[in-house]
Parts: sequence; C-alpha cells; structure tokens
Amino acid sequence: MERSIDRVTEYAYGKLNLGLDVTGKREDGYHLVRMVMQTVDVCDTLVIERIPGESEEVIQNKLHIPAGGLSEDEDNLALKAARRMQECFSINEAVDITLEKRIPVSAGMAGGSADAAAVLRAMRKLFLPELPLEELEQIAVSIGADVPYCLYGGTVLAEGIGERLTFLRPAPDMDLVICKPPVDVPTPLVYRLYDAEDKPLHPDIDAMVRAVENRDKDGVIRCFGNALESVTSAMHPEVSRLESFFSSHGAVRAMMTGSGPTVFAVFESAAGAEKCLEALKGHPEFSRWESFGCGFRHMRES
Ligand code: ATP
Repeated sequence: MERSIDRVTEYAYGKLNLGLDVTGKREDGYHLVRMVMQTVDVCDTLVIERIPGESEEVIQNKLHIPAGGLSEDEDNLALKAARRMQECFSINEAVDITLEKRIPVSAGMAGGSADAAAVLRAMRKLFLPELPLEELEQIAVSIGADVPYCLYGGTVLAEGIGERLTFLRPAPDMDLVICKPPVDVPTPLVYRLYDAEDKPLHPDIDAMVRAVENRDKDGVIRCFGNALESVTSAMHPEVSRLESFFSSHGAVRAMMTGSGPTVFAVFESAAGAEKCLEALKGHPEFSRWESFGCGFRHMRES
C-alpha cells in the first residue's frame, strides 16, 4: 500500500512588477490592472505537517513564525489558505505550519500571497496529489488577487484584477538591488488616491510583453513603469530619494514595485549591484532599511 506524505517543505518566492498599469475599475470596487510580474530569488520557507490524531469537529491548525513580528492567528494568509483547502475539499485533518519569513512584509513583493500559494501547493501534495494545480486558482483568488500568480511564479502577464494569467518567456536575467523604506503603504489608500489623479501614467504593457518575448533586455528596461508610483512617492519621498541614490550609484534604472514602498534597481553586472549594495549598507540612513541583492527566478511551479 502506498504511504501518504506527512510533511512538505515549500518555498514562497517574492515578486516584482516590471510593469503595472491600471486600466479601470470593476463594479465591486476592485481595480482592473495589466501587470508584468516576475519572481525573484528571495523566498520564505514553509514546512507544513499533518497533525496526527483523531479528527475533531473544529479543525485547529497551528502556525509558528520563529522570527515573530507577524500574526500567527487565522488572519495570517498562510492559515487562511489551509482553512480554505479544508473547507473546499472536506479535509478533516489539521496542519502545523512553520513559516520562516525572508520576504519583506508590506513591501509590494506579495509576501503574504506567496505564503498562501505555498500552503495551497503543500495541502495539494499532502491530501490531493492527483488534483491539477489549475484547480486551485479559484481558491487562490478568493484569498487575494496576487495568489493565483504566486501559485506558479515566473514571468507572467496578469490581467483582470491580477488573476488572468498569460505565461511569458522567462524575462532576461537582471542583477538587482532591492530596498524597502520603513513606511507602511496601505494598498487600498494608494488605489483611492490613484483614482483622484489628473493624468495618471499608463506604462506600455504590450511593448513590455513584446520585449520580454523577444528576450530584449534593454527593451524590457525601457518599458519599466508603475502607474502607482507617483501616488506612493508623493506620500513618501523616501521612494524618490532611494531612486536618486540608486541612479548615482550605477543603476541603469530604479523603480517601485506594486503599491510600494519597495524600490528595485537594475545594474549592468553583479559586481555593479554588489558595489551599490555596499554603499547602501554604509549610508547613514538607508543602512537601517531592509535591503538585499538578488536576481530573477525562472522556475515555474506545476
Ligand atoms: P501585495 O504586493 O500583494 O499588496 P505586500 O507585499 O505589499 O502585498 P504583504 O507582505 O503580503 O504585503 O503583507 C500585506 C499584509 O498582509 C500585512 O498587513 C501583513 O500583516 C498581512 N499578512 C498576512 N499574512 C501574511 C504573511 N504570511 N506574510 C506577510 N504578511 C502577511
């Protein structure tokens, strides 16, 4: 008899928006977007284990986040994802989740969404190994608009509210430095202020998709653009200050991801990125902000 798996380790990778355009608003208030998403090689690690024993009427899942700083209650997206799977597929066994966070929190890098997607994949491996990954997309979008993308990762055009996915060729590799200013940016507020903008920016997402498909690195960088950046940087001058710092330290281009406040910068070479990161770490103010170097990750989950 085949023995079922008791424990799964999943890696939840963060994302950047290489392009983000807002194209409208649904009747329910959700904004319609067109985004080119790219996974980066920084990840949270999740270990998900079945809790052995009698199944109870109310399933008690557990979450541990050793580094602390985040809620370990049901409002954590990792636990929300486990609960949704149990409800949708009548799974009456609890799970124990250990979450090691590395993706900066509230950064515009979809850390929470990536954790939720990782739990969905893990629950599938533990309880429903035959189920196609696509069948988790509906549950994913009920947790958050970025969760369907995070199920797969890679280079993707995301449309609708972010749930309509077109898989693209892997974007050309880039050497990056990422830094998150220590400010909180509530995403709903950014969209509200965006709605009041006079002449919002509309990055050319189609041109970026063409550049990605042609593996045209300079073309992709030329098309970088984020419709939400002017809103967030008007509230938080840290964003433009960081971009100026990157430009004066060799960056080819620097831009905000998602609704911010994180800024990522692209360099000609790994050595260039390293040199800039060193300068950042030696800066009297920026050295206290979360920062790291990384590249793109091209594996897609299946
Ligand atoms: P997005 O780019 O999708 O808007 P984000 O990267 O800006 O997301 P997250 O790190 O996902 O932001 O956190 C957003 C909110 O979700 C925070 O208020 C945080 O407390 C909450 N949250 C719930 N679960 C998690 C989790 N597992 N990891 C991080 N944040 C979580």
